[in-house]
Amino acid sequence: MADRPLTLMAVHAHPDDEASGTGGVLARYAAEGIRTVLVTCTDGGCGDGPGGVKPGDPGHDPAAVAAMRRTELEASCEVLKVSHLELLEYADSGMMGWPTNDAPGSFWQTPVEDGAARLAELMRRYQPDVVVTYDENGFYGHPDHIQAHRITMAALELVEAAPKVYWTTAPHSMMKRFGEVMREFGADFEEPDDPTEAVDLHSIGLPDEEVSTWVDTTAFGDQKFDALAAHASQGENIFFLRMGKERFNDLWGVETFVRVKDSTGAAVPETDLFAGLR
Ligand SMILES: [Zn+2]
Repeated sequence: MADRPLTLMAVHAHPDDEASGTGGVLARYAAEGIRTVLVTCTDGGCGDGPGGVKPGDPGHDPAAVAAMRRTELEASCEVLKVSHLELLEYADSGMMGWPTNDAPGSFWQTPVEDGAARLAELMRRYQPDVVVTYDENGFYGHPDHIQAHRITMAALELVEAAPKVYWTTAPHSMMKRFGEVMREFGADFEEPDDPTEAVDLHSIGLPDEEVSTWVDTTAFGDQKFDALAAHASQGENIFFLRMGKERFNDLWGVETFVRVKDSTGAAVPETDLFAGLR
């Protein structure tokens, strides 16, 4: 273990998820000298296009969107000081129920073992000490997030790596505050124009006492916000940007996880993903 740096690997679905979900821990651990590896599974081609063109509308070109989002992802990684960015480049499957779910080559249509084999190869190369991904609901039900979860857990079966494995989560107390802030800003997840885009806030996260790991990243709030802002083309979909830096950091300054694998014996609740490893 001494011949390589402590390593964090975060497996995410789309460009921008690294910032919203784990921007704080990526920035914090990079600042502590830990190697940070970000694996982004899809190209984000179902995002908004230049000029805000929505997926499925005339003029929406997934290849052009993917190219634009790759540049934004690289800028975000620069802000977060991510050591290594790895792209699996599967086609974005879009939100659950979209026709893009069934497109050949979409991440959702990719056999789990194919994605897992590619991810396992990266795990062999980087030998991460800590792996972070989503829970089995992909945190909020997006097919690519669910698939990222599945290939990560399958890859971990193939490789002897990662003494600690985590799923991102949010304690119900935080989701409640988030719901209040959203209402204050006039947004409501539960009554979107398109019911297929409804996200049930109550189905997200865990009771506070089931959250194992609370990492204080408030000192890195500016970086997290700036990384999110680097995904400017998706700004309309990124509610957090409307909150402003201070409110954002106040709400999401502590990043929370549930520990699903551990061979260090570190006591929970813990405040450090690397507890027991250094
Ligand atoms: Zn995503």
